[in-house]
Amino acid sequence: MEREFSAGGVLVRRFRGRWYLAAIRPTGRDETTWALPKGWIDAGESPAETAIRETYEETGLYARLDRKLADIKYTYTRRDGTRVFKVVSFFLLRYRSGRIGEIPAGMELEVAEARWLPLEQAPRSLAYGGERQVARMAGETLAGG
Ligand code: ATP
Repeated sequence: MEREFSAGGVLVRRFRGRWYLAAIRPTGRDETTWALPKGWIDAGESPAETAIRETYEETGLYARLDRKLADIKYTYTRRDGTRVFKVVSFFLLRYRSGRIGEIPAGMELEVAEARWLPLEQAPRSLAYGGERQVARMAGETLAGG
């Protein structure tokens, strides 16, 4: 089976006493599909660097690294029938600057919408089980100080 490695971010921000995370609707999927920003790890890049870069490209937000959360794993089938085993490393990222949805030119092809979601709602709003799990871990980490 083919393998793919990506990295992504749970970018959090506290606003009026509540935590929010930055979520995206990837283009070309069901319009109710909310997901976390992530992408392919470029040559010479660490997974944490990828997470920060991809989070910026897909949400327009600049972040700093807090810590690694977990690796999630899934398999999917490409259009040509190839099975892919995929590992995505997720990092807890803290908001630095930027306006959500003001994404760099070219990236609007991949992202239909980017939005702040209340963190406590994320386990219900995110479409994929693995991503719901890392959002839950982010909440526990933040609650633990
Ligand atoms: P990347 O964002 O890493 O560049 P991509 O957009 O090419 O990747 P994926 O987001 O991995 O690819 O999507 C490939 C397939 O896997 C799609 O059918 C998608 O619905 C499904 N998928 C994406 N994330 C998950 C997940 N966390 N769990 C299960 N299936 C997923």
